[in-house]
Amino acid sequence: MSENRNQQARASLAAWQAHKPTDYLQADSNVQRVLQMHLGEGYSRHLPLLRKASMLSASQMDRLAINSNRDENLPRLNRFNGIGERTEEVVFHPDYHELGTCVWDTGVLAVLEQPGNELLSGVLSYFIAHNGEAGHACPVACTAGLIKLLQQVGSPEQKKRYLPQLFETDYAKRLYGAQFVTEVQGGSDVAAISCVAVADAKVRGQYRISGEKWFCSVIDAGLFVLAARPEGAPVGTQGLALFLVPRTVDGEVNDFTIRRLKYKLGTRSMASAEVDFNGALAEPIGPLEEGFRNLMSIVLDTSRVHNAIAACGLMRRACIEAQAYARQRTAFGKPIIEHATVAQILARMKVINSAAVATTFRLLAMGDRLATDKATGKASDKSAEARRTHVNINKYWTSIQCTRVIRDAIEVLGGNGTIEEFSVLPRLYRDAIVLESWEGTHNTLCAQVLRDFATRSLHLPWLADLSDVLSSITHSSLQVHRSRAARLLSDTEARIERLLSSEADYASLHIRTVVDHMCALNNYLSLLVELDWELSQNIESRKALLVDLYYFMFIDQADPMDNPEFHRLIQGVCMKTAR
Ligand SMILES: Cc1cc2nc3c(=O)[nH]c(=O)nc-3n(C[C@H](O)[C@H](O)[C@H](O)COP(=O)(O)OP(=O)(O)OC[C@H]3O[C@@H](n4cnc5c(N)ncnc54)[C@H](O)[C@@H]3O)c2cc1C
Repeated sequence: MSENRNQQARASLAAWQAHKPTDYLQADSNVQRVLQMHLGEGYSRHLPLLRKASMLSASQMDRLAINSNRDENLPRLNRFNGIGERTEEVVFHPDYHELGTCVWDTGVLAVLEQPGNELLSGVLSYFIAHNGEAGHACPVACTAGLIKLLQQVGSPEQKKRYLPQLFETDYAKRLYGAQFVTEVQGGSDVAAISCVAVADAKVRGQYRISGEKWFCSVIDAGLFVLAARPEGAPVGTQGLALFLVPRTVDGEVNDFTIRRLKYKLGTRSMASAEVDFNGALAEPIGPLEEGFRNLMSIVLDTSRVHNAIAACGLMRRACIEAQAYARQRTAFGKPIIEHATVAQILARMKVINSAAVATTFRLLAMGDRLATDKATGKASDKSAEARRTHVNINKYWTSIQCTRVIRDAIEVLGGNGTIEEFSVLPRLYRDAIVLESWEGTHNTLCAQVLRDFATRSLHLPWLADLSDVLSSITHSSLQVHRSRAARLLSDTEARIERLLSSEADYASLHIRTVVDHMCALNNYLSLLVELDWELSQNIESRKALLVDLYYFMFIDQADPMDNPEFHRLIQGVCMKTAR
C-alpha cells in the first residue's frame, strides 16, 4: 500500500517535470499578446528569432545553466600561465561557454545594431532570463550598455573599432563588456570614487588608471567601462569621467591585477572580482566632463532596464514551476491548486508577474519610440525625462517583487522547493536577491527620484506621461477602472507635491512610500493599456480578471473578507489560466 503511494507520488512528480514547456513563448499567451500590441506587424516578422530564443532557453540553456552553476563548476582564477606569465585569466566550465554560445546565437545584442530594437532585444533577454542570471545575463546587460554608450557618445573611430565585434553573434569571436564603478568605500555614493586617471606621458589622448575597484563583474570581458577621476578634476560627481579600458594592449594583459573572485550568494557562474588598476591604459569615452551624466543616463539606465527584464524572466519561470507543480501535487485528497490558500498564492504571483511585464515592456517600447523619434528629429525631452523616472521606479519595484514571487513559488513546492536538485527555484532566489542590490539599491533609486523631482521637477513629465496613458484608455467597459485610476493619479500627484513642499528629512523618510504609490499607479495603468488594446481587438483573455485582482490586492484598501468578488477572481486568474 505504502509502496503504491510512493509510486503515485513519484509519478506525479514525473508528470510535473514532463509538463514543463519546450517553448517559453508558445507557453506564454500573455507575452504573445503584449508583443503583438507593442510590435504590431513586426511581431510576425520577428517570430522566428523569438521562437529560437524561447526554445533554446527551455532546452539547452536550462540544462547548461543548471550544470555550470553547480559548486564544483564555478569559475576560478588562474592569474599566471604555466611559464609564469601574468594572464589574469578566469577559467570557466565548458558548459558555461556552451551556454554562452546559445545566448549570443539568439542575436540578443546583434539586433541592437538597428535603432528602435530595444524591445526586441529585451524580449530575447527575457527568455534567456527564464534560467536566472545563468552567468550570461549580466555580460549581455553590460555589453548592451557599452553598445549604447558607443552609439551615443563614441567617436567615429571608436565606433568603427569596437561596434562590429560587439554585434557579433558568434560567441567565440565576440567582444563583450563590463562596467566598473563601485569601490570599497561604497557603490551608492558614486561621488566618493577615488580611482584616478592620469594623462599618458607617451600617447596623446590616452590615460593611465590607478586605484581599486571592489565589484568587477564580468572580469573576463574584453573591454571595461570604468568611472575614474581625471587628475585635477573637481571632487564629487562632476569630476568623474568615463573610460574604456581594454583587457589587453598589444597582446599583453593591461596593467590591472585581480585580487580574488568573489564567493557570492547569487549570479555565481558569472565571475565578479576585486581588482587593482596599476596604471592601466585607457581612452576616454565621451567628453571627460560629461562622465557622470553618461554613466547615469546611458550605462546605468541600460543596466536598470535589463535588471527589470531579468526580474520578469525569473518571475515567469517561478510561475511556470509553481503552477504546474500545484496541479500535479496532491495533499489531503486533492491537487494542492484546489486548496484556496495555494490558489491565492499562485494568483498573486501571476498578477505581479503580469504587472512587471506590462510596465517593463511598455518601458522598452517607450525607449524604441524615443530612438525612432531621435533618428527623425522628433524626439521630445519630456518623454525622455518621464522615461528616466519610469526606469528607476521600475527597477526598484520589479526587483523587490521578483524575490517575493520566487519565495512564493518555493512555498508552493514545500520542502522540495528548497532543494537544488529538485528545481531551479533556489538558484533563482539567490539571483533575485542580487537583482535587488546591483544597479542601484532600493533606497538609492528612491533618493534619486526625490532628487530629480526636487531639483529638476521631473515629476511633471512623469505625471504628464501617465495622464496621457490614462486618456488613451477608451473602451466603454473600462469606465470604472478609468475613474479609479484618475483618483489614484491625483492622489499620487498630491503626495509628491506634499513631499516637495516639506522639510528634507520628512521627504527622505517618506519618499519610499510615495514611490510605492507611483509604482502601483504605473502598474495599474500599464495593465489597463493592455486590457484596452485586447478589448479593441476582441481578444478573449483573463486580463480583465487579472486587472481587477491587481486592483483589489494592491490598491484597494478594503478588507478582502468583505469583497464577494475576491474568490471568483482568484479562481479565474489561477485555476482557469494554466498559462
Ligand atoms: C554580485 C554583485 C555584482 C556586482 N557587480 C558590480 C560591477 O560589475 N560593477 C560595479 O560597479 N558594481 C557592481 N556591484 C556593486 C553594486 O552596484 C553595489 O553593491 C550597489 O551599488 C550598492 O553599493 P554598496 O554595496 O557599496 O552599498 P552601500 O552604497 O554601502 O549601501 C548600503 C546600504 O545603504 C543604503 N544607502 C546608501 N545610500 C543611501 C541614501 N542616500 N539614502 C538611503 N539609503 C542609502 C543602501 O540602500 C544600502 O541598503 C555588484 C554587486 C553585487 C552584489
